[in-house]
Parts: sequence; C-alpha cells; structure tokens
Amino acid sequence: METKKRDIRALTKDQLRNFFVEQGDKPFRGNQVYEWLWQKSAHDFDAMTNISKETRQMLEDNFVINHIRVDQMQRSSDGTIKNAVRLHDGLVVESVLIPTENRTTACVSSQVGCSLDCRFCATARLKRMRNLNPDEIYDQVVAIDNESRLYFDRPLSNIVFMGMGEPLMNYNNVLKAIDKITSPEGLGMSPKRIVVSTSGVPKIIKKMADEEVKFGLAVSLHSAIDEVRTSIMPFNSTFPLKDLREALEYWYSKTKNRITYEYVVWKGINDTQEAADALVKFCKFAPSKVNIIEYNPIDDGEFQQAHSSAVEMYQNTLERNGITVTVRRSRGKDIDAACGQLANKS
Ligand code: SAH
Repeated sequence: METKKRDIRALTKDQLRNFFVEQGDKPFRGNQVYEWLWQKSAHDFDAMTNISKETRQMLEDNFVINHIRVDQMQRSSDGTIKNAVRLHDGLVVESVLIPTENRTTACVSSQVGCSLDCRFCATARLKRMRNLNPDEIYDQVVAIDNESRLYFDRPLSNIVFMGMGEPLMNYNNVLKAIDKITSPEGLGMSPKRIVVSTSGVPKIIKKMADEEVKFGLAVSLHSAIDEVRTSIMPFNSTFPLKDLREALEYWYSKTKNRITYEYVVWKGINDTQEAADALVKFCKFAPSKVNIIEYNPIDDGEFQQAHSSAVEMYQNTLERNGITVTVRRSRGKDIDAACGQLANKS
C-alpha cells in the first residue's frame, strides 16, 4: 500500500536540508530544491533541471507539490482581472489583479470562505471551509505577478489581504506567506507594499505589534458605534470597539504606523453626522487615514449606498479634524471582483 506523500512545501528550508542529509546527500541540495519550489515556482520535480534524474525520482516518490491552478480568469472592462483559483483538494478561492496607472495590486484570499458574518459581504455567506496554507497564499501572488508581467508589462507592486477570509483568523499562515513573499528567496517584495486588512481581532493586532511586523494594517470599521457595528458585523459583540481601540492604541505605540480604516457609508445605517463624529472620535488618537469605499451590492438590496451628500459630509468632517480621507471607486464590478463580491455567483 502506498503511504501518503507529504507536501514538500510544508517543509522549512532547514527541514529540506536535513532531509537530503538523511538521504546521504549534501545539505546544499536542499537549497537548490527550495529555490525551485519558491523563487522559481516549479510545478513539478521534472522542472528542476540542475537536480539529477535519480534525485528527482526520489523526491517524486516521497513528496507532492500542491500547486494552485488558475481555473478561470475573467477580465473586467476596466482592466481588473479575477482568478478563480483551484486548490489541491478541489476547493476554490478567488484573487484579483487591480491595475492603476503606475501600480498593480494583488488582492488575495486567506481562507476558503469566511468565519465572520458581515451582513453586507458575499463571502460571509459561504461557511469557512478551511484556512489557506502559506504556499496557497504565495501562489496566488505569483499567479498575479505573472499576469501583471504578461498583460501590463510590469511586475506586481502591491498586495492587499482583502480577498476571501479574515487574515487574522489565519494569522500564522498569513505571516509565513508574507515571510516568503518578502524574502529574497521568494519574491523579494518590500513589506511596506503589503497591507493586511482585518475586521479587527484585538488579540492578534497586539501580537502583530509585539512582533513588530513591517507590513501595513487596515481595519474594516464601517461604524464606530457599537450597536450599529454589531448589527452589521455581528462578531463585534465578541470584539467590541473598546477592545479594538485598545489594541490599535497598542499597535500604534509599538509601530508608529499610521492606521488605515475602511468604511462604507450606507443609507439609513451610518449616514448621519453623529456617525461621522463617532468615527472621528474613534480614530483621532493616532495618525489615520479613512478609505471610504463604494458599496458593492450583493443582490438582496438590504444595504444601499448612501447619497453622495452623506459621503461629502464624512469627507468634510474627517478633513476638518485632520484625518486623511480618500473616496475610492470600485473596480471590477462587472465581473464581481469588487470588495465584498467574491463568491457572489459561485
Ligand atoms: N476580512 C477582512 C478582509 C476581507 S474584506 C476584512 O474584513 O477587512 C475586504 C473589504 O471589503 C473589507 O473592508 C470589507 O468590509 C469590505 N466589503 C465587504 N463587503 C463589501 C461590499 N459589499 N461592498 C463594499 N465593501 C465591502
């Protein structure tokens, strides 16, 4: 009976080096294979041309390379690309390439489905099936980097963890993936070009602060009033604003990094002056930037984009209080690739 082969990319570089030593080979062989697996994104052992045929066969007998497969690629009229990414066990996640004039941003998923229950988000309607492994996150980035080179003639420049899932509920794997993405042995990207977006898990935000991570943090706030936030993001009853705020204060004291907030203004939910004032009060303790995102409807019409005058009211209120604010238009709506639309149609 064949024993189950291990996923070779679950091994660290040291483990891979040790494996070769156990096989009576040189540790250096481990470095070579590691380079094929990560920097060169080899999909099979036969691609490893500087490794002998016998060694490749031995690897084949012991391991598998669980590479993702881009099953379907859709292109929006605005240039945005959405990849449906099939994982080794058949589950599917989505990632998005967002081109702007001089940037290409990858929006990647961290979980299959999501364990949170934000009522305005399509992904929340899928149960969380499982966490993504570090290599599955890394591979999404590589796929988008390749597409950026192919279609836009330039490498990927930025990454946002704003796809499916809550990255801080899969923190260890997200961190491992970012390590690979930023390592010279992986893609060598600067952590300053990476933003992890969270609905706010206070304990993990503090942990990130303690580890002095170098990537950016964005918080999906949407309301700075507990009752309102709980009604649209029910997990807020477990992690109320007071705890979130305390964790963010800790984050700022440790990192001195500006905090970005994502915020959608909805009709009848948070489109009042009182709501805008609460937002100011919440984020005033540290240099902050508020990204007001356009609402992307997810069919049932329960949530509606607020009137533009409400968005202007927010802009004025924030600016008056020295808080940077941007109003972002959505990209890729026609292919359901915009914020909160991932998994809308599958
Ligand atoms: N779980 C993480 C990352 C995924 S969501 C987080 O909550 O930050 C990425 C962003 O899209 C979040 O700011 C989320 O609140 C927002 N979003 C979700 N549904 C949306 C919708 N229908 N329209 C606009 N933005 C939405």
